[in-house]
Amino acid sequence: MDLTNEEIIEKLDSGEIKIHQIEKYAENANIATDIRRKYIEEKTGTTLEHMGKYSIDMTLTAQKNIENQIGTIQVPVGVVGPVIIKTEEDETIESYVPMATTEGALLASVNRGCSVIRRSNGCSISILNNQMTRAPVIKTKNVHEASKLKQWIEEHFDQIKEVAESTTSHGKLIKIDPIVIVGHFVYPRFVYQTGDSMGMNMVTIATQEAMNFMEKENDIHVIALSSNFCVDKKPSALNMIEGRGKSIVAEVTVPKEVVEKTLKTTPEAVVEVNYAKNLVGSAIAGSYGFNAHFANMVAAVFLACGQDPAHVVEGSIGVTTAENVDGDLYFSVTIPDLPVATVGGGTRLETATESLNIMDARGSGKVNRFACLVASIVLAGELSLVGALAAGHLARAHKELGR
Ligand code: NAP
Repeated sequence: MDLTNEEIIEKLDSGEIKIHQIEKYAENANIATDIRRKYIEEKTGTTLEHMGKYSIDMTLTAQKNIENQIGTIQVPVGVVGPVIIKTEEDETIESYVPMATTEGALLASVNRGCSVIRRSNGCSISILNNQMTRAPVIKTKNVHEASKLKQWIEEHFDQIKEVAESTTSHGKLIKIDPIVIVGHFVYPRFVYQTGDSMGMNMVTIATQEAMNFMEKENDIHVIALSSNFCVDKKPSALNMIEGRGKSIVAEVTVPKEVVEKTLKTTPEAVVEVNYAKNLVGSAIAGSYGFNAHFANMVAAVFLACGQDPAHVVEGSIGVTTAENVDGDLYFSVTIPDLPVATVGGGTRLETATESLNIMDARGSGKVNRFACLVASIVLAGELSLVGALAAGHLARAHKELGR
């Protein structure tokens, strides 16, 4: 039933229409967005002029990306690079990378890191693992039944795989491991490969189907499809060790002269800062982030490229190492938990599409390229910040660029 905008606002006021129901009565989702924004402006006595200016198609976002929409937010986006990467397949990637942030000095710093990488003939990157996980929690009658269920899952893996994969053409169930028992609860961690998508919706749907099958075949009760043993959007030792999303290592050997000229410090000073800060400092804090600021680069690229922003918490896990090798600086970042996508989720948004296009990293067959580019930017950011700390430049750069 189409109502005029005024009629919808009146019915919102009277409570006949709820705030989430406007799309049902408005001509389309773009108009519903405008009505909701106007209503919120009136209710809160605010002007939402800038949220109301956008060029993306809100009828598409309303279908899969957001509910109750009132507009968009604008975050400045810039580019860093080009960065040069040598992949394990002997491919050389050279690309600018878009980053969206409000943190002054971040792009300047990462850009300096990119220049260090270029002057070092590029960085090397390997994607060591690629998996998306979902772990339900299942209640059995007692620990004997829990133990039998674990065995049943191991023995029926092929059947469970067939059922799970019936829901998707790209998702592949690789293993169900580990399967942990606590009391009479069983926690099987379903591990999938999800093609170019990040995969959380895909594996959730597939695991639900597997649970339906398992409930039919066993006297069990699935308490929750997600048990927190996945581990989605939380920092965890499990993800650090087992990996989630892409598990990546990026490394570069920076010649001594480049450290001195570009980072204005020495390999020895960088190694010492890295040891005292990223390793010992993180250890005494009980942190999973044995790094200077992975989250900064991951967040800015994720925002620009339509990735799930909550996965920054996972991307923040990892280790930065620095060594003096024959007088030069060996520097690496190990990122065990980077959930990324070039298909699905927020990647379809017009601005995300443009950002991914800058890197030729949009669509099917591009996710490894994109993952390598994110990792290279994390490496560049780490190099630059640890270098700045070693040279005592951090406060000065922030004073000049950030304030
Ligand atoms: P999705 O957009 O739900 O699914 C990806 C889709 O792309 C699938 O329909 C897949 O088809 C299709 N596809 C086409 N080409 C593909 C290719 N080359 N590789 C892989 N898939 C391809 O995205 P998703 O990655 O599964 O989920 C991402 C979304 O999940 C994000 O919006 C995120 O915020 C959200 N999320 C959900 C949960 C949850 O618990 N459900 C948790 C965290 C985040 P087939 O399946 O037929 O292969």
